[in-house]
Amino acid sequence: MSAVSWRDIDPKDAAGLDLSSSPEIDAPLNEMGERCPWPWGPQRLVDVPMGQYHCPECGAMVLAGVPHLDYREDDGDDGVREGA
Ligand SMILES: [Zn+2]
Repeated sequence: MSAVSWRDIDPKDAAGLDLSSSPEIDAPLNEMGERCPWPWGPQRLVDVPMGQYHCPECGAMVLAGVPHLDYREDDGDDGVREGA
């Protein structure tokens, strides 16, 4: 049994969710290894020229118009690799 991924939840269905209190839903981690409570913000910013900015929810560096980056380091499947 695998947890539900936040990526499988549409932003319009995510209103009211708080992943910091929903352990059954997988959430992206910021650079500090903390779960983002509401990671659907960045991907909704498709018409703004913001580029990189800090997620207002968890402080992670993310990209406007792109799904929230995941800074977890404990698996290499689809996480963002820093350094190297
Ligand atoms: Zn975040």
